[in-house]
Amino acid sequence: MLRSITQYRPVTAKKLTELRYWDNLSVDYRKTFLVASEVLPFRVNEYVLENFIDWSAPEDDPMFRLLFPQEGMLTRSQFARIEAAQNATSTDLREAVRVTREELNPHPAGQMTDNIPTLGEDILDGIQHKYAETALFFPSAGQTCHAYCSFCFRWPQFVGEPAWKIQAREAAQAVSYLRCHQEITDILITGGDPLIMNSKNLRRYVEPFLAVESLKTIRFGSKAVTYWPHRFLAGEDAADLLSLFEEIVASGKSLAFMAHLTHSRELEPPEVKAAINAIRATGATIRTQAPLLKHVNDDPVVWAKLWTDCSALGIYPYYMFVERDTGPSGYFRVPLWRAHEIYSSAISRVSGLSRTARGPVMSSHPGKVVIDGIVEVHGQRALSLRFLQAREPTFVGRVFLAEFDETASWLDDLRPLGGGEFFFEARGKPTEPAAPQWTAPERIMGGVHA
Ligand SMILES: *Cc1c(COP(=O)(O)O)cnc(C)c1O
Ligand code: SF4
Repeated sequence: MLRSITQYRPVTAKKLTELRYWDNLSVDYRKTFLVASEVLPFRVNEYVLENFIDWSAPEDDPMFRLLFPQEGMLTRSQFARIEAAQNATSTDLREAVRVTREELNPHPAGQMTDNIPTLGEDILDGIQHKYAETALFFPSAGQTCHAYCSFCFRWPQFVGEPAWKIQAREAAQAVSYLRCHQEITDILITGGDPLIMNSKNLRRYVEPFLAVESLKTIRFGSKAVTYWPHRFLAGEDAADLLSLFEEIVASGKSLAFMAHLTHSRELEPPEVKAAINAIRATGATIRTQAPLLKHVNDDPVVWAKLWTDCSALGIYPYYMFVERDTGPSGYFRVPLWRAHEIYSSAISRVSGLSRTARGPVMSSHPGKVVIDGIVEVHGQRALSLRFLQAREPTFVGRVFLAEFDETASWLDDLRPLGGGEFFFEARGKPTEPAAPQWTAPERIMGGVHA
């Protein structure tokens, strides 16, 4: 019998060792945990511990692997370095942790330098504008989550290294930017998880956007539906959140809730279903996206069930992502050919209504690239790839071929079929038409729009 939990109680690494769950973990795992959680951000809450993990065999449980650091997320030498430093001084430990984090590629795909826009002389904090029509907004009060996913590419935001944070203290600058950039129809409020904020704070960030006429859609990127469904159900703050959603819809804009759902099991608890119904009742739409992760959801049956159950609940399947090359990505990596196989197999098991899911998609430096298939060209195997989204808008929809490579798990691992370079890599040559209107100055964009 599950304990019913309606109070949000976070559980840190230190706290975990004091709870009864700790006793269900093997001696080996406890050692892994105590070392890895020095480097990787760890935070769960009582609700997820109670509802998503099978405590009779936690170490084989996919949700456990999603929420808890695992052996293999650090290399052997990183593990040894931290372990040695744990027995040394606290200064040594801090330094060992810092060095190890640096090795984990904290900001892949040029996030820190390439997509940060400017307004006049000001460099804007907390906004990323990579694709013409959609800007990302990172409110400073929304930089944590109700629980952390062990793979998460936003992890530098959680570990208290200020130089790695991207965040905005208020919406005013973003609003001015939107007014100057009428091509932006969508603002995606993200984090962390913006719903970690109380509704009053969230309202303070969101309401100014409602007056921007060129903006058509407000999106929230969040995992709160499953990591803390009572966010939408319990008490005054939940009621205030739902009325904010209603207000957004009433303003004439669309409210698109981007729910991060990693495993079909996340939809099982009745309070998750109730949260979904409550969000939809405000007039919001819900879409779902998640990365494909080895050891967690690298199984077409899991995706097919997830998408079918989503459709039954009125959620539109949106993206299956390829795990980014950051943090402990080695542990979760799935080769691109295999990712394509899992996607195709999953899609073939669902009705047309669930085939709105696109994937597997790499959110890479030049844009979002989908692996469409494995083809044979004059007797040579190749991956067929296509841009779904691109920093350079004329690249959208372009198909290109890469040599089949059994081990490649990211765009950078691929070589063009027939040699040379990919069209989007061309440097110093006249590339596709001139830079799009919205391009930020060269010094910010790093010259990608040559
Ligand atoms: C994925 C993404 C978006 C949104 O793209 P859509 O295809 O419109 O969902 C916007 N900005 C960045 C940086 C992204 O990675
Ligand atoms: S909920 Fe989202 S932002 Fe938070 S840790 Fe998970 S993937 Fe990252």
